[in-house]
Amino acid sequence: MRFRSLLVLLLLSLWLTPLAYGQHKVAVCSTTQIADFTRQIVGDDWEVLCVLGPGQDPHSYEPRIEDSEMVARADLCLQNGWHLEGGEWMQDLADNNSKPLVTCVTGVVPLQAADKEGLVNDPHAWFAPANAAIYVRNILAGVSKTDPENAHMFQQRAALYLGQLNALDLWIKNQVVQIPAGRRVLVTHHDAFGYFCTTYGFEAASPAGWTTEEIGGIGLDRRQEIVEKIRDIGVPSIFVETSLDQRMISEIARDAGVEIGGNLYSDAMGAEGTAGETYIGMMRENVLTIVAGLK
Ligand SMILES: [Zn+2]
Repeated sequence: MRFRSLLVLLLLSLWLTPLAYGQHKVAVCSTTQIADFTRQIVGDDWEVLCVLGPGQDPHSYEPRIEDSEMVARADLCLQNGWHLEGGEWMQDLADNNSKPLVTCVTGVVPLQAADKEGLVNDPHAWFAPANAAIYVRNILAGVSKTDPENAHMFQQRAALYLGQLNALDLWIKNQVVQIPAGRRVLVTHHDAFGYFCTTYGFEAASPAGWTTEEIGGIGLDRRQEIVEKIRDIGVPSIFVETSLDQRMISEIARDAGVEIGGNLYSDAMGAEGTAGETYIGMMRENVLTIVAGLK
């Protein structure tokens, strides 16, 4: 009797072990966009974790001990690349834990951006859905190699999602035609929208220095310079990111005689439960905001 119950316990524990410890492979992604792309491909077959949370800035992020612990559990790490992860923090996390790393921009045709050290590849490539499709193919290759048993499922999901990215691209083209050609100028404080502007015929105009200065610490001279630049550009609206000081931007817009067109998602997506919590949702909300502000 005792032996039989021990045997039952033993069999039960053998059966439960894979459930308790999880058979799922683990992906650790640097940014919220890459985590979304990865989830679209692996579904519930993997656990997908993300170092950055909604609204966090990848350029200035400094990894914590918990991030290293998270990466220690990873079967595969995924990053954007082209120095979006400032100081190569995702590369370091992967290297320090001896984990394979997928760099999603591999194969994207880069735009050049000015940096302190000269011209660099602009890392914000996901703002063109055709580039997002390249990210998805790189992720598909990485997860399929790590988990060949599920590769067929990954391919099926990726095929559906690539179709959705194509539909998103066509939808954006149909939306932006509502804006007269001369008004397709996107003034933002951050230089994140280069790929979007190039793809959809916008001129990108960020008043120089907005990315490198604390907006709250701008002196009166500097502020006047920004106001004059916005007047010269002659757009009806300028756009801001949720992370910025809204009051300061409102004052600059008022002085320049333009409207605040609304908040745009840039380097991070929206919080869970918001319209911008996925890549497609983020792009959709940005385009609706831009069209409403400029048409
Ligand atoms: Zn950025």
